[in-house]
Amino acid sequence: MAAGDTQPDLPDRVIVPRSDKHQVVVIGSGFGGLFGTKALRKADVDVTMIAKTTHHLFQPLLYQVATGILSEGEIAPPTREVLANQKNAQVLLGEVTEVDLENRLITSHVLGRELVTPYDSLIVAAGAGQSYFGNDHFAEFAPGMKSIDDALELRGRIFGAFEMAELGAARGENVDHLLTFVVVGAGPTGVEMAGQIAELAHRTLTRDFRAISTRQARVILVDAAPQVLPPFGAKLGKWTQEKLEALGVEVLLGAMVTDVDERGLTVKYKDGSEQRIEAVAKVWAAGVQANPLGKQLAEQTGAPLDRAGRISVNPDLTLPGYPEVFVVGDMISLDNLPGVAQVAIQGAKYAAKEIDGRLQGKPAQAPFKYFDKGSMAIISRFRAVAMVGKLRLTGVVAWLMWLVVHLFYITGFKNRVTAVIRWAVSFLGKGRSERTSTEQQIFARVALQRLARGATDLVSEPGEYDDAERRRTELEAQAAEEARLSDENKRGVKVGG
Ligand SMILES: Cc1cc2nc3c(=O)[nH]c(=O)nc-3n(C[C@H](O)[C@H](O)[C@H](O)COP(=O)(O)OP(=O)(O)OC[C@H]3O[C@@H](n4cnc5c(N)ncnc54)[C@H](O)[C@@H]3O)c2cc1C
Repeated sequence: MAAGDTQPDLPDRVIVPRSDKHQVVVIGSGFGGLFGTKALRKADVDVTMIAKTTHHLFQPLLYQVATGILSEGEIAPPTREVLANQKNAQVLLGEVTEVDLENRLITSHVLGRELVTPYDSLIVAAGAGQSYFGNDHFAEFAPGMKSIDDALELRGRIFGAFEMAELGAARGENVDHLLTFVVVGAGPTGVEMAGQIAELAHRTLTRDFRAISTRQARVILVDAAPQVLPPFGAKLGKWTQEKLEALGVEVLLGAMVTDVDERGLTVKYKDGSEQRIEAVAKVWAAGVQANPLGKQLAEQTGAPLDRAGRISVNPDLTLPGYPEVFVVGDMISLDNLPGVAQVAIQGAKYAAKEIDGRLQGKPAQAPFKYFDKGSMAIISRFRAVAMVGKLRLTGVVAWLMWLVVHLFYITGFKNRVTAVIRWAVSFLGKGRSERTSTEQQIFARVALQRLARGATDLVSEPGEYDDAERRRTELEAQAAEEARLSDENKRGVKVGG
């Protein structure tokens, strides 16, 4: 069957033709997906990367997009541009909905168009999403921080709250709920967001408003855990909390969020007492849930899932009974590996090497071993914490280290250059280069969710294109007639005269 052929009984189902080469399918264009694909550039294979976004997202800098430091393009270059020179790699847009391990077929969809892609080897790197711990309805009022859409929505909500406060104050209203910002989750992302919102309020925006004083804004960081940054240990956690408080962030620990609505949220303490916080702008940075494809893989292989939906893999990152299927990154549960970029990168490179090695008849590698290069979290300009091996760093040294490491990992030379300029604007100066936000940024997600099939409801089905083509022919004829009338100076000339 040739590309583009359709099966008679499934009019929109298109099966990608196989090439003569070993066919590798990679699901996801994040750290695992991109580094796995790149690692196969010299292998004698054809690689098809299927991902539901057209970009490779550098998630660690999402908070800077949300708070106006960086633009979305700087942290999310087009994947096909990144892979433009890798001739054995094709990038296809699509959300993978089905992995058929028995028949080695991947089914993906985009805007009602289905595609089925066969594989010989598969690398699944679909990552993780936000977890609301069973309270998914909180998401409407407290967006997470997992995608470009999330970051732009949060940017709109944060800067929008200051705008609405100015408007409310000009109308003589109480605006405390608009000038209170709550970040749920005191891990690295929550700490970074709280620190940046505090810097916005107390440093960047102080001269821009007339009816409100942005210095009066409250920034509250809430977590059910007894310390901030638990994975960084007690000492760095305490240091971070002190620095956040010095910035004006209120840190509420042992505080479990039990309800979230448009106007605020409720927290419950260990002693049973409850506190209501009125805050329109809320950020959810509390939990992660592995991609639901993990559940499909578990059902087909019997591999167990942990509480966060991560699938148990063999020591060589394959699935039990399916040595041709590798799962890497945030989706896996193996030896308590953390959900960090390096686990995904190293795992994907390992899988790629194994696929290439098998084709060359090499013996199997030793089990996957993660090399921990350290962890970092930024608190505000000139303040960060870092753990490298047994070394614990704080302050400017850790901040500079953070800067260099992140610069190194940003994809693309031009993005590195512009990031340095933007950081100078924000860290040395007071400005934010990316403060633009629109109504659509803030409300489109919820509006799309209210449509039964999301964006698919807004576009033609593939079959409906016949009508569109007819309409195009009419429009082209109309345009040609308009041009003829002008060229022949026939406008205003009496018809038939
Ligand atoms: C806000 C934030 C800050 C972070 N900060 C750090 C940090 O400072 N340091 C660090 O090491 N780690 C950090 N992390 C974690 C790190 O980003 C992840 O561990 C890493 O991205 C995992 O890589 P992955 O390839 O498993 O998944 P991801 O990078 O998330 O990639 C998943 C890919 O799969 C695609 N996808 C998902 N579902 C489907 C589907 N059904 N069909 C097709 N495609 C699909 C997605 O579009 C995406 O391209 C941070 C994460 C977040 C969210």
